[in-house]
Amino acid sequence: MELFKRKRRRHGILLAEPFDGSEHCCGCEADCCRGFPSVELDAEEYSSLESLGAKRLEFHLDGRFFLLIENGCEFLDGSRCGIYHQRPSICRRFSCRDS
Ligand code: SF4
Ligand code: SF4
Repeated sequence: MELFKRKRRRHGILLAEPFDGSEHCCGCEADCCRGFPSVELDAEEYSSLESLGAKRLEFHLDGRFFLLIENGCEFLDGSRCGIYHQRPSICRRFSCRDS
């Protein structure tokens, strides 16, 4: 009997270009959407997420915008992004590799 399920260790990579449809993510429970404190946005993404009903947006006085995702992004639908085609650029550029 397996007493402890070993979690895969991954390290994140921020790609130069956005990409969609990674098969690599299929067996994952969206660890990246739960494992960071926030996602940085530009002003346009901030407005767009606001219009999608985001509740955990933050605007800093230094002019930076964030979607807070600590303990899980509010746009998660199970283990998938519920706004996949409208997700922020940094989400579209994020990938990972097993370490
Ligand atoms: S990028 Fe990595 S951590 Fe994020 S969903 Fe895909 S496999 Fe999981
Ligand atoms: S917007 Fe989508 S991809 Fe980005 S952190 Fe939230 S659930 Fe994950």
